[in-house]
Amino acid sequence: MKYGIIIHYDEIGLKGHNRDFFEQTLVDNISEKIRVKSLKGRVKKLFGRIWIDLDDFACGHEREAWKSLCETTFGIAYFGFSVEVPSVEASFIEAIKYLATSIEFETFRITTTRTEKNFPLNSMEINQILGGTVLRNFEGKKVKLKNPDAEFFLEIVGKKAFGYVNKIAGPGGLPVGTAGKALVLISGGIDSPVAVYYMQKRGLKVEFIHFHSYPQTSQQSVEKVRMLTKKLTKFDPFLKLHMCPFLEIQKVILKTVPDKFRIIFYRRFMLRIAEKLAYKIKAKGLITGESLSQVASQTIENMTVIQQSVGIMPILRPLIGFDKREIIEVAKRIDTFQISIKPHDDCCTVFMPQNPETKGKIEEVLDIESKFSVTDLVAQGIENLSLEKITS
Ligand code: ATP
Ligand code: MG
Repeated sequence: MKYGIIIHYDEIGLKGHNRDFFEQTLVDNISEKIRVKSLKGRVKKLFGRIWIDLDDFACGHEREAWKSLCETTFGIAYFGFSVEVPSVEASFIEAIKYLATSIEFETFRITTTRTEKNFPLNSMEINQILGGTVLRNFEGKKVKLKNPDAEFFLEIVGKKAFGYVNKIAGPGGLPVGTAGKALVLISGGIDSPVAVYYMQKRGLKVEFIHFHSYPQTSQQSVEKVRMLTKKLTKFDPFLKLHMCPFLEIQKVILKTVPDKFRIIFYRRFMLRIAEKLAYKIKAKGLITGESLSQVASQTIENMTVIQQSVGIMPILRPLIGFDKREIIEVAKRIDTFQISIKPHDDCCTVFMPQNPETKGKIEEVLDIESKFSVTDLVAQGIENLSLEKITS
């Protein structure tokens, strides 16, 4: 009997001739995390599944480590701690007996699937044989087809069969990297880390840019962004954070722009710098944590005026239709919430106007902007970028 983890994916199975690429990326992502976490296991593709070879049937701390690895790897629909046996009846019985000793249960069911339809027994017959095995060998157990304590799965694939108890849900989505790369504008708030989560989940490799007003704002507010980025390494172990000192640009805006337009201008410059960097690092899009009408800068009018500062690069706003309450729920689930709510002075809040414009007009904005050299300011922003590598 061999021990391991059987991993199933659903959506990537549908990708036609891209399927190989999706599967291979998932294998690579799992292998990378195994290295980072110093676990012992070998990953391979196997008949539309992924299999991680383990020396033993994982239990205790080791099991928890594998569980958390699989639960944070996008592309995994579900997985199970499994045994691999030859595709013969006697081995199925041996496998089920082994699995039944690995957990506590009263009620159970057996679910067999076969890809080889010419196997001498059909799924129902195998279910009956294995059900009988459990009833005979383990006292006081009862069959229960709906919501049993333990569901024993047997998957017969060619000359091999995989047995495991209970499916454990993965995070779903698509393997990180399969959708290419995008650059996220990350603040120290609640929203942008949640936006990153959703975009990593759809297969994007994400790099980060943060604009800070140090020394006008504290070092802690920058540290907070590092901590948030670090939290997100559980979904992608190697992240890049580009820091952009924004204070000098803000001072020019403060001098030249009427108060109520300040935020619009901050955002226009942030987007321009982000777009330039995005092209440099070969990112295909920008990501923000904006949600419609959450604050003045996120009315549809202001988002339009802000967006017109950049070219055709798409701006992905995965949270656009989310209520704050819904965003907070996810932030708690991915464990960024407690960091996000630590007090900090963001670069936009330090010079916050009393009554920000909620319906900016592009003509007015362009008229004001003609008073300063946009190109020089953006070039200055790009020149002063510094790169930090954040690993899990
Ligand atoms: P919260 O709304 O919880 O304060 P937030 O991250 O949404 O957090 P907002 O002020 O709503 O902050 O900003 C909207 C979006 O603009 C952010 O989601 C983020 O993508 C971007 N952004 C704001 N400030 C910064 C910053 N200092 N550096 C990089 N991006 C920023
Ligand atoms: Mg917000």
